[in-house]
Amino acid sequence: MAYKTSLMVPKEKPRYNSICSDDELLDDEMDCYESISEKRGSWIDDLASISTQNSIYLPTRGFVSAPPPREDPSSTLIAVIKMGWLDKNPPQGSLIYQRRWVKLDAEYLRYFDTEKDVYSKRIIPTSSITGVINVGDQKFEVVTHNRTFLFRAESDAERSEWVTVLKSCVGASRTQQSLDLTFNPCVTSEMKGYLELRGLRSKLYTVVCADKVFLYKSTEDYRLGIGITSIDMNVGNVKEVAGRAFDLTTPYRIFSFVADTEQLKDQWVEAMRDSIAEALSNYEVAERIWSLPANQICADCGTAKPEWAAINLGVVFCKRCAGEHRGLGPSVSKVRSLKMDKKVWTEDLIQLFLTLGNERANEFWAANVPPSEALMVSSSSEERRRFITAKYREGKYRRYHPLFGNQRELNNALCINVQSNDVCETLALVFCGADVNCDTDDPDLPCPIALAQYHGQNLQVEFLTQNRNTELPRSEVDVAIDTVHYMAPPSITHNGFLFKTGSMARPIAEKKGKEEFSRRWCVLNDGHFSYYESDKNATPNGGLKMKEIVCLAVNPPETHGYDHTFELYSDSERLYLFGTDNPEIAHEWVKSIAKSFIPVTAEVLLLKDFQRIGRLRYKDGLNLETSRLGWFCLVGSNLHICLEQQNRDETIDLQKLLELSIQPDNDVLVLVERGRTLYIEGERKLDFQGWATAIQRAAGSSGDTLSLQQLTEADIPVIVERCIHFTTQYGLTSEGIYRKSGVNSRIAALLEEFRRDARCVWLKEGEHQVDDVSNVLKRFFRDIEEGLFGQQADNWLSTTGCSDESMRISQYNLLFSNLPRVNQATLRALMNHLYCVQRFSDLNQMNLHNLAIVFGPTLFQTDGKDYNAGRVIEDLIQHYVTIFDVNEQQLKRQLDEITYIIKLRENLNPKAGPASGDFICTVYLEEKRETAEQHVKIPATMTAAELTFEILDRRKIGVKEKDYWCCFEVNDKEETERPLHYQEKVLPIVHSLGTDSYLLLKKYFSMEAMLVYLGSKVEVSKHGMMKFKEERNLLGLSTGSFHDRYFILTNTSLRLYKDVRNLQKLQNSELQCSNRPEREWPIKCLKVYHGIKKKLRPPTCWGLTVIYESEKQEKQERQHWYLCCDTQTEMREWFATFMSIQNGGRVWPAEWLKSRSASRSAPLDSRFGNVSLIPLRGSENEMRNSVAAFTADPLALFRNA
Ligand SMILES: [Zn+2]
Repeated sequence: MAYKTSLMVPKEKPRYNSICSDDELLDDEMDCYESISEKRGSWIDDLASISTQNSIYLPTRGFVSAPPPREDPSSTLIAVIKMGWLDKNPPQGSLIYQRRWVKLDAEYLRYFDTEKDVYSKRIIPTSSITGVINVGDQKFEVVTHNRTFLFRAESDAERSEWVTVLKSCVGASRTQQSLDLTFNPCVTSEMKGYLELRGLRSKLYTVVCADKVFLYKSTEDYRLGIGITSIDMNVGNVKEVAGRAFDLTTPYRIFSFVADTEQLKDQWVEAMRDSIAEALSNYEVAERIWSLPANQICADCGTAKPEWAAINLGVVFCKRCAGEHRGLGPSVSKVRSLKMDKKVWTEDLIQLFLTLGNERANEFWAANVPPSEALMVSSSSEERRRFITAKYREGKYRRYHPLFGNQRELNNALCINVQSNDVCETLALVFCGADVNCDTDDPDLPCPIALAQYHGQNLQVEFLTQNRNTELPRSEVDVAIDTVHYMAPPSITHNGFLFKTGSMARPIAEKKGKEEFSRRWCVLNDGHFSYYESDKNATPNGGLKMKEIVCLAVNPPETHGYDHTFELYSDSERLYLFGTDNPEIAHEWVKSIAKSFIPVTAEVLLLKDFQRIGRLRYKDGLNLETSRLGWFCLVGSNLHICLEQQNRDETIDLQKLLELSIQPDNDVLVLVERGRTLYIEGERKLDFQGWATAIQRAAGSSGDTLSLQQLTEADIPVIVERCIHFTTQYGLTSEGIYRKSGVNSRIAALLEEFRRDARCVWLKEGEHQVDDVSNVLKRFFRDIEEGLFGQQADNWLSTTGCSDESMRISQYNLLFSNLPRVNQATLRALMNHLYCVQRFSDLNQMNLHNLAIVFGPTLFQTDGKDYNAGRVIEDLIQHYVTIFDVNEQQLKRQLDEITYIIKLRENLNPKAGPASGDFICTVYLEEKRETAEQHVKIPATMTAAELTFEILDRRKIGVKEKDYWCCFEVNDKEETERPLHYQEKVLPIVHSLGTDSYLLLKKYFSMEAMLVYLGSKVEVSKHGMMKFKEERNLLGLSTGSFHDRYFILTNTSLRLYKDVRNLQKLQNSELQCSNRPEREWPIKCLKVYHGIKKKLRPPTCWGLTVIYESEKQEKQERQHWYLCCDTQTEMREWFATFMSIQNGGRVWPAEWLKSRSASRSAPLDSRFGNVSLIPLRGSENEMRNSVAAFTADPLALFRNA
């Protein structure tokens, strides 16, 4: 080994070489190797011509003397744990230490001559280190299998730091080894063997391994894993020189190799080029993943440039953490290298990591990490293992999803969410227990993956696929729920005797006699409620924790044997009944118990005199995906709510609900208020049942007084409003209305129906008779407790004694203002109605006096023996405008409307009278389904646009400028539909609809194209060929088949030409008048529908059905023509032309959205925001679809409309 010294060049520091120690031999050899670089000028010259041409890394002239401005590749790729100057043990026989720049990363301990060197003198895999030992004098030993390296630090502190980090690395790499996670070149090398490195006499054992080339002194060293240096091939370039020589050039050095044979050279070149390619491609994945800044540091310990990832957990981490992840097993963490597991990294997976990334994933995984448990770059293996196990296997630090613990809801939420692009939410759902393989209730898309696929959510598909078999974090479910929702209540102490029955698993239907109760000493203390045999006993018979209580219900007095009873519901579906005869004792207990389980955030509820209080899960407009926890209490007909994440309590007046229903399939109570819908979920059966019953009872007509009825927004009892509307629509021309008696049994039945749930009663012509309805109204007022005029009825009656009319009026005025709110509203509405009735007395014979005779005794609930009551009514109707301060213009409009309705109905052929022609009309939204129906009152003046907005408003559907929502008249039998023009009045359409027809609201997708087409035309007219068929047969049977005809549509008529020969003339000379058309129809008599019924076998699917309605009323002639176009565009153009001509060029309102605010009847309740798109009823699937639509377009608000 004499050559070693011969090549030595003294460096700035004196160094002594020795041939005595093995270790030093290596160093010496490296010195030799180093020394090559010192002399590089000599051998670079003859390479310069080659290396400058093709390498992008090399400077054009000479060789770089210092590292290029580019980042050190080793630091780019491998995170350095610790580096610094250390003295390496002196060669034997010498006392002078060698100063070395030492770098430690997760994989290797290396040392260099200077901190600027890129290629080490020694590289020791941490996996080959067997021990790190303190040996005094700031020295420590790094022990490998057969060699020991001695280092000396400058201080004890420095030394112990090195020892600590080295030890933890050693531990880490051992774990990896034991788990077969090894990067030992021995395993994966592509090419190895001896190569001569120019300038060195001895050959080096060279290994091309993945994206690196390693240089060893010998095969023995290679076996031991102790090398000279490694070359990152991502900065390499291979050049063939002459003969057996080739160069590996890097920005820092050129390695000039000589192979043993030319054949071997070819193999080496190929292997190294492959290595470069691999390095570059591996680097590519890593670079892309790192392009997200959060991915540039380890998700667990913060180490820079993490090269590993758990492809199912969505986190990127460093090598040392990777070892611990491996330890969790692939069912918890699927560990892959960013650089080596190239095939894994599909585009979707990369995108998933760019979407999730460490930051967002950690928002879930590391939402609650106590600082004391957090990892650092320097954390030991033991600390890493503990932390990573807690984080991913136990889910200890995760952010609990609000649905945590509710499997069904989690699954449901997952199914909804995978249709959106929110992968973070999916991550949270899946790792809080949502089943990746759960059933979606959709046979076509049976699992969430299929759903996501169907909705084109590739990242969701990728994430779900990676987690198909993932083991969920295991931790205590109960504890988790408590930590999220339960807030420790103030410690309440209360005790005393109560009477108690055995706990039950079903609601109590029957009265419990006193004998079923036992006397118990009850103690409420520190969140525990316990009951004892007596106050002398030390051991309780039983009890429950306050945090287990989900509901407390106070029964009305005398429900059971004991006068005052209350029920406690536990979350384990048990019901406990307690009672006492003493109202104060009962009250005290109720208050104390409520106080101990209601959290501080909802304590405002405790101030109320509730009948029921507890927690329920709910969904509302803004958040349909996930249900949340709310605290509810019921007081009379008011439901008070403290909703999660809202800092105030809300009150719902249950009697004013527009709708209240239970979705039986999934136990959801649906409360529809104007402007908001609340879904209360049956998380548990028992207390939900109690709530549902109580809420339904409270929402019904709870009593016999006016104010206890179900009310409209305007505070009018629903029954009164519905009866008045029906009578206005169908009864004003009915002779003797309100005087005729109707059928008693029907009246009683209808009244009963109203009393049960007025909201659900929709009066319809044909089903209900005018005289029955009018009598229901009368009977309602006659029976109502306290009467319409309340306690001051006598004062109203005595006012009639005043002979001075103006004094009487002001007295009525005063009395009116003293009436309760509901009475005022009701009286005003009724008098308005009666005023209208008598205005049409020429038709119905009910003049002022006649009405007063009927309504006086009814409203004052008198026997009618004196006429005082009648006189009051007479006055009220006669002076209606003055007493009630009525806007006369409004009144006139109302009367005009009624006149219009009457005229309209007169014109209708009574025999062909519409069965569904209701004043209250059913309109469908998007689809004809029961769940999509809306009952709309159609005033005579309502236009199609107003109806459209009314329904969109009700359903709170956001509309954008180019959403062409349109009201269609759909005929199922004819298989046709016609978009109503926006200015078209709806009521006549409604009245003309046959049983096969209905109104449907949907987007008119052709509108945009039609507007574009029309916009391009100067003069709106159209001519061209269509296939034509006529239906002359009045029975609707088809005659003949479709024939080609030439049509000309001008602004007055549609003309049909049979003789095709004339067409040329027509088009060329425009001498249209000289050609008599075969047919000609005035355009104003035509109604054009999309579609032709299939029975007629239209030759294309682009058909139009044209109905010709003769102007001569008496003929009632309706003829059908069928026109078929070759393309959709053709059809659209014809239709657009029809529409434009028929409506004077106004096909769509110029400022559609602006027209909407004017059409709004009442401002929406904005308490819960205006963003919500909720089906009033319907299955989970329908809710899902709405949510999906909502997610797709959350910003389409009405607010700006
Ligand atoms: Zn880490």
